[in-house]
Amino acid sequence: MRITRISIYQVDLPLHEGGYNWSGGKSVSVFDSTVVGVETDAGLTGYGEVCPLGPAYLPAYAAGARAGILELGPHLIGCDPIQLGALNRRMDAALKGHPYAKSAIDVACWDVLGQAARMPIAELLGGRYGADFVLYRAISQDSPDAMAQRVAEYRAEGYRRFQLKVGSKPEVDIKRIRAVSEVLKEGDLLVADANTGWLTHEALRVVRAVSDLDVYIEQPCLSYEECRSIRERTNHPFILDESIDGIEPLLRAAADRCADVVNIKISKLGGLTKARQVRDLCVSLGIAMTIEDSWGGDITTAAIAHLAHSTPTELLFTSTDFNSYVTVSIAEGAPQRQEGRLSASREPGLGVTPRMDVLGDPVMVIE
Ligand code: MG
Repeated sequence: MRITRISIYQVDLPLHEGGYNWSGGKSVSVFDSTVVGVETDAGLTGYGEVCPLGPAYLPAYAAGARAGILELGPHLIGCDPIQLGALNRRMDAALKGHPYAKSAIDVACWDVLGQAARMPIAELLGGRYGADFVLYRAISQDSPDAMAQRVAEYRAEGYRRFQLKVGSKPEVDIKRIRAVSEVLKEGDLLVADANTGWLTHEALRVVRAVSDLDVYIEQPCLSYEECRSIRERTNHPFILDESIDGIEPLLRAAADRCADVVNIKISKLGGLTKARQVRDLCVSLGIAMTIEDSWGGDITTAAIAHLAHSTPTELLFTSTDFNSYVTVSIAEGAPQRQEGRLSASREPGLGVTPRMDVLGDPVMVIE
């Protein structure tokens, strides 16, 4: 099989809540998402999506994703999309770094592989664990009372795991964590995600002030060393996200016992091929995972679902359904949340059909 054409689509994804706020005053109201269609001479077309969390979260931005795909595309025309190891090596040889630009292409090629094999990607990634898997809801940064109110509302919709966006003034973050704790019930899980927003003295004040509460602390500070210094001075379960962008930082965190949970974002790692490698290593190391992406719509949510559903249940800390945060549906067949849980499609490939009327004409075509 050969790749004959790569089409790039741009789509805006507004949010039901109107905006999403996290540490450092960062905020997004409309996500700029990129969909890639990989066409083949076998008549199969696979799709992938990449949607950075704005330009200031990871070293990734929406126009950069499209520029990266445009750079990579000519190197991939004529390649076999289902030889995913070779395809990824070719992308790495053609463009150093920029994993997020490679991610949508890799996911689209997994979609082609699944369609060719007539199997869902979850099965190709190792097989399905259970009927469905657990989700968390991210709670946009707001006043303590407003965040507690949001948690109560999402709890009523079936979610049982919540990730609070903190990482601002310690005295306010302490109030946020306490206000939300009061509306949780037995069995619920709470994560305080600072998204690198605290200096170490600020992180220390927060973890000490909430030491009586059952709360996970996620990525308190910018650098790995800063995070490690907090890890060594708190007994809260500890999550690393932004620091874990490949195998090497994962191995270092594992050797240092610096993470109880790590967040695997598909586009942060460069696609399903590399995310699976990290996932499988975490399984071997006994490190639990949140499996997700930076953001996205139906196609990203489908890809997340296949990776999450094929992860052993006890090691899957949480996952996410980004398509329920946004007002626009870009594909039919995408998984839909039920009582705070999700399952991967049983159709071949990703199991989604893009809504071409929503995607419109491609903004770039490589052939
Ligand atoms: Mg995070």
